[in-house]
Amino acid sequence: MTTTEKPKTYAYDMIVFGGGIAGLWLANTLKRANYNVILIEKDKLGGVQTLASQGMIHGGQKYVLQGAVTGHASSLAQMPQRWNASFGGYGEIDLTGAKFLSDTQIMWPAGSVLSTAAVMGAAKIVNASTKKLAREEFPEVLQEKKKFKGPVFELPEKVLDVKSLVDALAKKLEGRLLQGEVTEILPDGQVAVNGMVMRAQLIIFTAGAGNERALELLRVKDKHAQRRPLRQVMVKTMLHPLYGHGITANPKPRMTVTSHPLPEGGYVWYLGGAVAEEGAKLSDEETIIFAKSELQSVFPDIDWENREWATWAGDRAEPYDATGALPPGPFVHQRGKVLMAWPTKLTFAPALSDRVFDWLKDKDIHPIAKDAPPPLPKAEIGQYPWETAIWRTV
Ligand SMILES: Cc1cc2nc3c(=O)[nH]c(=O)nc-3n(C[C@H](O)[C@H](O)[C@H](O)COP(=O)(O)OP(=O)(O)OC[C@H]3O[C@@H](n4cnc5c(N)ncnc54)[C@H](O)[C@@H]3O)c2cc1C
Repeated sequence: MTTTEKPKTYAYDMIVFGGGIAGLWLANTLKRANYNVILIEKDKLGGVQTLASQGMIHGGQKYVLQGAVTGHASSLAQMPQRWNASFGGYGEIDLTGAKFLSDTQIMWPAGSVLSTAAVMGAAKIVNASTKKLAREEFPEVLQEKKKFKGPVFELPEKVLDVKSLVDALAKKLEGRLLQGEVTEILPDGQVAVNGMVMRAQLIIFTAGAGNERALELLRVKDKHAQRRPLRQVMVKTMLHPLYGHGITANPKPRMTVTSHPLPEGGYVWYLGGAVAEEGAKLSDEETIIFAKSELQSVFPDIDWENREWATWAGDRAEPYDATGALPPGPFVHQRGKVLMAWPTKLTFAPALSDRVFDWLKDKDIHPIAKDAPPPLPKAEIGQYPWETAIWRTV
């Protein structure tokens, strides 16, 4: 090329920015609909919230517990069927490669006598899909809890090995998952990535907290995004797994626990819920001390000394909600040929994809672009928080 020649503009039907669950799910559905799509990730696939999530495919029960029975719970109710169809190999994406840590979650009373009433109440509301467990069916850690009588209810909500999901979604996009940094965005569908000019019929940002940068590059002044901080707690090495919500009379679970197998044996317990909300106001060390006292109080028969502890601090990146609370579902903000999209929950990735397809239908956008993917490096899959954590004893 001589210096007077115009640089090549790479043309696609869609360019998706951000390789968390939202971008990976969406790019899969776009490819399946024959759109020429590429996905550009700034860092690692599954990068921020997705690999840090607890991997629970919610069916609405958690939100019933939190008292938010309206929009969220009813739209979530549709999601497990769609995920299950994909896990079974007969859904919109073949996810037969994805693995589960557990097929169910439990709710158990994690406080005073009032928490027993709260669990009973919650189970009654979600009656159709919960099962009251007999003592011999309790998870080991609750069976070992002396004086603990329950009740323990089982919810038919799966807990995913999230990395296996990211891997299954990435496999279907071989050659189209690239690593690069966007430096300019125009509302007419042109972007500059690593010095290359690209254009698409539609640019979609599913970049989590990175959507804020896209709004800045588009010079959008109004507030369209919010962050809600969390500090999750990790403790190892636990002998037995636990998946579920410790309920008290408060609307938020006292702790939501998932368990993740370690290569050397045993599990990391990963704690969210009120512990992580409280942790957002505390330092790493203060959060660990608080979490340890919470665990000592809820599981007094377990020895919490000589364990290793770590925290993961991050943000839930969401569309702006004037109340500052979790918005009622997936959301898409449009600027010309650029969409900024947030699933608000991992569970909602299929619903977010529906929103984009509604938009494509409405604007009558069909596959036309023929260009091969640009010369960018391949995006690799990231790591879980417990794989990179700095552990300490307290
Ligand atoms: C601790 C925690 C626990 C959770 N547990 C659950 C749960 O159990 N169940 C559930 O349904 N939901 C859960 N959630 C919510 C869920 O994780 C998120 O809603 C979901 O993962 C968001 O996915 P995403 O793809 O939008 O964002 P992310 O996973 O954050 O991915 C965004 C990606 O975009 C990339 N990026 C950023 N900027 C750019 C850029 N300029 N260009 C290109 N790429 C960029 C990032 O590197 C990242 O890889 C949890 C969230 C947290 C924080």
